[in-house]
Amino acid sequence: MAEKRWIAETLFDDLGFRMAYRVDKVLYELHTEHQHLVLFEHSFFGKMLMLDGATQITKRDEFIYQEMMSHVPLFAHGDAREVLIIGGGDCGIAEEVLKHKTVKRLTQVEIDPAVVEFAREHFPEFTRPVFADKRFESVIDDGMKYVAQADRRFDVIIVDSTDPQGPGKILFSHKFYAACKRCMRKGAVLVTQNGVPIFQPRELISSVTKFRQLFADGACYLAAIPTYVGGHMAMGWATDDRRLRQIPAKILAERYRRAGGLRTKYWTPEVHAAAFALPRFIADTLAKAGRTR
Ligand code: SAM
Repeated sequence: MAEKRWIAETLFDDLGFRMAYRVDKVLYELHTEHQHLVLFEHSFFGKMLMLDGATQITKRDEFIYQEMMSHVPLFAHGDAREVLIIGGGDCGIAEEVLKHKTVKRLTQVEIDPAVVEFAREHFPEFTRPVFADKRFESVIDDGMKYVAQADRRFDVIIVDSTDPQGPGKILFSHKFYAACKRCMRKGAVLVTQNGVPIFQPRELISSVTKFRQLFADGACYLAAIPTYVGGHMAMGWATDDRRLRQIPAKILAERYRRAGGLRTKYWTPEVHAAAFALPRFIADTLAKAGRTR
């Protein structure tokens, strides 16, 4: 019997380690205009998508990241109507955002049409409800260009990007965050995919430093995602409303109840409130990001 192929995540090669997955079946593999895309079946994690050697999404644990990137900013804001997703072509986060009835319009700006096309074929559980929802608008464009030119103003901006390499690099720049700020309404919040602090501390320090140069409050919150190797995953947080990070679980529970108790597998009001409590080594990392302006 032929030896099974193993696909390795090469994101941390410079740290001298790789996470590798035994492939049951390659479903889709392509060098797109922007990146190398491979989708494969894994016996435990189910369907897995990798872009340029970095795990993006697996059927087994996608709910953790998708829920924490969407419900935390939306329940913290409490009345978000206009929402923007940058990246997110697999539509997993869009599906969670559209569970909120307060949301009147959701725009997703993804640079690579191949990611949306393959998601429509291979992740119908996300894409079908999303593309059937009249509130949803799918834009194929570079996120930097979109926020630099947009006339609309948003209550929540979610940056579900790849890592700061290739097309995703610009989405970690001061220029991008400043352009996001220009598109934000009063009391709006920006959240970002910001890596795993134990392996990518500089990425977190760099983003939070820029947040604190532009906003009254720059910080991060955490979640543990098995296939984002490294223990805690950091999600960047930037807003001019300092209160949004301290909403008590009691008030979040009330907002959750009023939202009709939308189904979640990870997010709870208590997990939300606790996600901003940082272990000391991560708090020390954030302390290197300089003071808020
Ligand atoms: N959750 C994943 C993670 O943490 O690595 C990210 C998932 S999502 C698939 C990332 C998306 O960002 C990809 O589809 C990629 O094409 C998109 N992307 C990268 N750079 C972009 C840019 N400059 N503008 C818009 N989308 C971009």
